[in-house]
Amino acid sequence: MSDRLMEFTQTPFGKSLATMLGLPQPPRLNRAKAAWADRPLDGKFVTVGSGNGAILAKPLLEALAAAGAVLRVVPEHAGLTPVKQAAAELGLAVTGNPGADASAPRSHAVLFDASGIASAEQLRELYDFFQPLVRSLPANGRVVVLSRSPDEIEEIGLKTAQTALRGFVRSLGKEVGKNGTTANLLEVAEGGAEWLAAPLRFFLSEHSAYVTGQLLRVGKGPQGGEPLALAGSLAGKVALVTGAARGIGASIAETLAREGATVIGMDHPSAEGGLGETMARIGGHGLALDVTAPDAAERIAKEALAKFGGLDIVVHNAGVTRDKMLRNMSQQQWDLVLNINLGAILRINEGLLKSGLKDGARIVCISSIGGIAGNAGQTNYGSTKAGVIGYTQAMAAAMAKRGGAINAVAPGFIETAMTAAMPLGPREVGRRINSLSQAGLPQDIAETVTFFASAAAGGVNGSTLRVCGQNWMGA
Ligand code: NAP
Repeated sequence: MSDRLMEFTQTPFGKSLATMLGLPQPPRLNRAKAAWADRPLDGKFVTVGSGNGAILAKPLLEALAAAGAVLRVVPEHAGLTPVKQAAAELGLAVTGNPGADASAPRSHAVLFDASGIASAEQLRELYDFFQPLVRSLPANGRVVVLSRSPDEIEEIGLKTAQTALRGFVRSLGKEVGKNGTTANLLEVAEGGAEWLAAPLRFFLSEHSAYVTGQLLRVGKGPQGGEPLALAGSLAGKVALVTGAARGIGASIAETLAREGATVIGMDHPSAEGGLGETMARIGGHGLALDVTAPDAAERIAKEALAKFGGLDIVVHNAGVTRDKMLRNMSQQQWDLVLNINLGAILRINEGLLKSGLKDGARIVCISSIGGIAGNAGQTNYGSTKAGVIGYTQAMAAAMAKRGGAINAVAPGFIETAMTAAMPLGPREVGRRINSLSQAGLPQDIAETVTFFASAAAGGVNGSTLRVCGQNWMGA
């Protein structure tokens, strides 16, 4: 569904009228138009800074250089030593930021290694670095802050300061979203530095256009695993996607196929027609099967083992709503939603973990911000989507033991048949209440799922990432 307000406010008349009336002016987001590139930042300028005592400058610079970025620093910035040292050790050229020179190309991204910030006073380094730069960010720019994982820290000053970064990034996301710029935080846990490259590329790319104001924890990847590049990492992989006939599921299937995966698209037998069309478009294989069928896991395993030798990727996307205020909700409405959105995920995974899943498999579950913020009329749906988040955390250790991972994506307001059917008023409000003043597209969810599906994201496990334009609900 087209966003009429966006179209209107992109015209000179629309823009001035919207400015006069104080209406939102949604920026046009640059989204990925092709598969992951080997060097996604090729020739792009990025400005890098660090606080005193920062410990991530070396892996950060290494990852940026490998992605093709041209590195800049702000020479007068006080905490630059870790960046300079890392650049010297890696033999990388670093140029000065152009400052007030308006004719110089702007930096696509601004990154700050805040892992050394250990006190309330030292947080001032954030202000000193970002305040002069924030004005010069281009449309669709990127801000990424790197920190330690506060969950692992006991020292009071350090834990306080590192946690403060969450508030900084979330607030900055709300300021810079007006021109389509995103701001995100990478929390690097013990052993996570060598798994930084892929999450960094994701946040800096057009594949994460609708992800802002979020934090992602990067830890140690699987034993013996190697942090691979995202480009080409799904070639030869076999992926199952449930609810693949339409909407977000169809987009996930298409995007996984774009990256080289063979897709088994599964949907309810009543959706067989739509499923056939989607699978024909991407050269995938249809499986008409209800996720709640008692033998669903066995039938999936049989299909995958017979035709492909097993599954590398499972995406639990099928989901339904049966909204009613609890006082009016029937037992059937409760049971149906719980069974499809949550019970089926647990049962299918349990079966596939016995047979059908290859070692190193990656599972991605679709949650919802409705499971984080809650919605009146969605006690059933909200329970399932919050349950998915808990399940993802609970399963992380078991998946890591097999060399794999499980993560969840929590979509915000996404343009699908479901949201198109909403009355105009709530639909308009739903679209606008986020930092980017617009709804997301199924592609936005699909890109994040595809990132999680890659072994390159091996350091991310048990996480839920909101893809919601920083929706104000539950933020
Ligand atoms: P959708 O357009 O309704 O598509 C869901 C698909 O799942 C449909 O093809 C549906 O088939 C299938 N499905 C339903 N029950 C099934 C079952 N028992 N077995 C197999 N397939 C089944 O929904 P969507 O908007 O793309 O949403 C996809 C996922 O994202 C859901 O988990 C949803 O909760 C989540 N989500 C969506 C939004 C949003 O804004 N759209 C926001 C947050 C979260 P039928 O046609 O037979 O029903």
